[in-house]
Amino acid sequence: MFLQKLYRFFFFSVLISICLLLYNWYKDDEFDNNPISQELEQQIFLKKEQTRQLLQRHYNISLNVPIIVSDKLPSSLYGVAVFTNDEKILIYLNKKRFKESRSYMIDYVIPHEYAHAVMFHLKEFSKEQSGHSEKWESICKNLNGKKCDRFVDNHDIIIGKTGF
Ligand SMILES: [Zn+2]
Repeated sequence: MFLQKLYRFFFFSVLISICLLLYNWYKDDEFDNNPISQELEQQIFLKKEQTRQLLQRHYNISLNVPIIVSDKLPSSLYGVAVFTNDEKILIYLNKKRFKESRSYMIDYVIPHEYAHAVMFHLKEFSKEQSGHSEKWESICKNLNGKKCDRFVDNHDIIIGKTGF
């Protein structure tokens, strides 16, 4: 009797695990093959607005940088700030990385990349330390950044043409 109960218990545990696994696969696939959700779009928008307000308050700069979520970024990059050949400033966020941690992408990556965008806006194009200068660091911190380390091995600024 007891064994039978135990057997049933394991049987159902395995069944539930398989269902969860299948559900996760389905969710992953759905995330990969669809545009980002409205909820996520809204979160990105709100974070961008907060960042812009801080920029206005600390530097009196009004800068509206388009933030584009793309699955074409190399997986090593969370985000990248781009100064295009026709002098537009853009921020790309890696869609694949949102799956791991949405809050990291929003709270860490957006202010970090926005600070790079501000540097472009100020015509500061030094690639020394991949653009992680002291000035960039203080802007990043003032934008409430949590990842404003100057000695990161991030190559996340692109000046000129991008492949995405
Ligand atoms: Zn950076």
